[in-house]
Amino acid sequence: MLILVLLCQQGRPPVAATPTRGGEEMHVTVDLGACQGHGVCHMSAPDVFELDETDGHAIVVADPVPAGLEADAQLGADSCPERAITVS
Ligand code: SF4
Repeated sequence: MLILVLLCQQGRPPVAATPTRGGEEMHVTVDLGACQGHGVCHMSAPDVFELDETDGHAIVVADPVPAGLEADAQLGADSCPERAITVS
């Protein structure tokens, strides 16, 4: 999984892991056992979620969530019909 995330981040500018929400970092995880590859998270928050080219499962590409993307991360989580995304 880490390799997939690193591969997906190639060619992107570095994402600063800025403390958010009162100094605490926001983290996003996807339960790949629940993910059905609908892609709604990616459509809602493309800077936070990408889709695996092989199976369509979501890949988090911004964790910890940088400042300015918190609302997008939450929107992506809220949009998941499988409730597969956790924001903490
Ligand atoms: S919306 Fe949910 S089920 Fe669909 S790809 Fe994203 S995490 Fe997976």
